[in-house]
Amino acid sequence: MTDRTSRDRKQNPETGEGSSLRDDHQPSNRGPDRQADQLILLRLGEVFLKGDNRPYFIRRLARNVQSALSPFPGVRLETPHGRMLVWHDGSNQEALVARLQQIFGLTSISPAVSVARDIQAMSVQATTMATQAMETNAPRSFRISAHRSDKSFPLTSPEIGKQVGSAVFDATGLPVDLTHPDLTIEIRITRRGVYLFDRRVRGAGGLPVGVSGRATLLLSGGIDSPVAGWLLLKRGMRLSAVTFISPPYTGPEALDKVTTLTNTLTEWGGPIRLHVIRFTDVQKALRQAGPGDLAVVLYRRTMMRVAEKVARREGANALATGESIGQVASQTVENLAAIEQATSLPVLRPLVTYDKTETIELARRIGTYETSILPYDDMCSLFIPKHPETKARVDICQQAEQTLEQDMGQDLQATVAKLVDEAEVISLPRK
Ligand code: ATP
Ligand code: MG
Repeated sequence: MTDRTSRDRKQNPETGEGSSLRDDHQPSNRGPDRQADQLILLRLGEVFLKGDNRPYFIRRLARNVQSALSPFPGVRLETPHGRMLVWHDGSNQEALVARLQQIFGLTSISPAVSVARDIQAMSVQATTMATQAMETNAPRSFRISAHRSDKSFPLTSPEIGKQVGSAVFDATGLPVDLTHPDLTIEIRITRRGVYLFDRRVRGAGGLPVGVSGRATLLLSGGIDSPVAGWLLLKRGMRLSAVTFISPPYTGPEALDKVTTLTNTLTEWGGPIRLHVIRFTDVQKALRQAGPGDLAVVLYRRTMMRVAEKVARREGANALATGESIGQVASQTVENLAAIEQATSLPVLRPLVTYDKTETIELARRIGTYETSILPYDDMCSLFIPKHPETKARVDICQQAEQTLEQDMGQDLQATVAKLVDEAEVISLPRK
């Protein structure tokens, strides 16, 4: 492994010329290499609270970072003592940052530069950063915030701040403001290296995908279910998805929409298998089998059974929907109870308390909104009653399901098994 602390590329802040000064502690045996000094510091969130599971969470997170960054050439992840550093050649920094912002388990991200272990190198880099910031954001003041985890470094953090601060002031004339600076240049002095950065980009938060089991998401082309899926990814769950289409009443565009939505979720959570269920015949039969007003609940109950079967195949231990209390007439607590009675798996509903405006806001942020509002419905309005039942009773649902069994000449389990057997499974890799 290359020793990042041994870089030697100092410049004289006054003249801008290269200096021949060497780092006393770690003499460099390599020439100046501007590119190899670029890195991104990753900050871990809740993973740090996980006690005995911490190493496992960190390994999972590291694997997720590695796989998300695999399309970028020349990128290397280093994980010293549970910290994470991504080294790169500088050619793709913003794309890398954007990618890292989609990895759950990271609270924030800082593009940084590694410098030699001496005050002059820090001053040069801090001056460069201040000069760049003055060109782009016109800050009116700055401060240096130094932190020294390697106490063997001869200066204290306040001393470092003071010395580097005066060098920057001398070179740029930018005033120092210790309380409300427009620009904060941070310096981290660790045993492995010295890093400077001037921004903290918000991370996705949550837990690394893969630490919390798997859910099978009932994914429609609407606004809600993709957001529900994203919230579960955020808590470290993996996803499989199942969608119900009713051709010819729903067109191919409806499935394209769901595929695009699934693709967007893979950006955040890695590969997802999407199971496409052709629901037309069963849906028609359900519409006939019970009171019309109960139709939506009957569809959902059958969807639950199908999803449960998919979940067993996928090794998932929960189902998930985008339902929310009171959002549409059919989403009452009584109906939700009647719906989940049809499955023995827990039904996760991350949006249960969300206002539609909150869901829309999140949908915009995660990149699903524009797809969700395309006009191709996942369900034909012909199938939807004008006045849906709001207090579904399980016994009446069960009666309707018995009628369905007679109409279809087979029991419900067989109907469900057939739907799953005939499903098209689309495997989507991480986008
Ligand atoms: P969404 O915006 O997710 O479609 P919604 O507010 O429109 O939700 P409904 O259409 O009543 O509510 O659906 C409730 C939930 O049932 C959805 O969030 C989804 O999880 C599931 N669901 C509904 N229709 C389908 C479908 N065609 N395929 C898969 N799941 C579906
Ligand atoms: Mg919907």
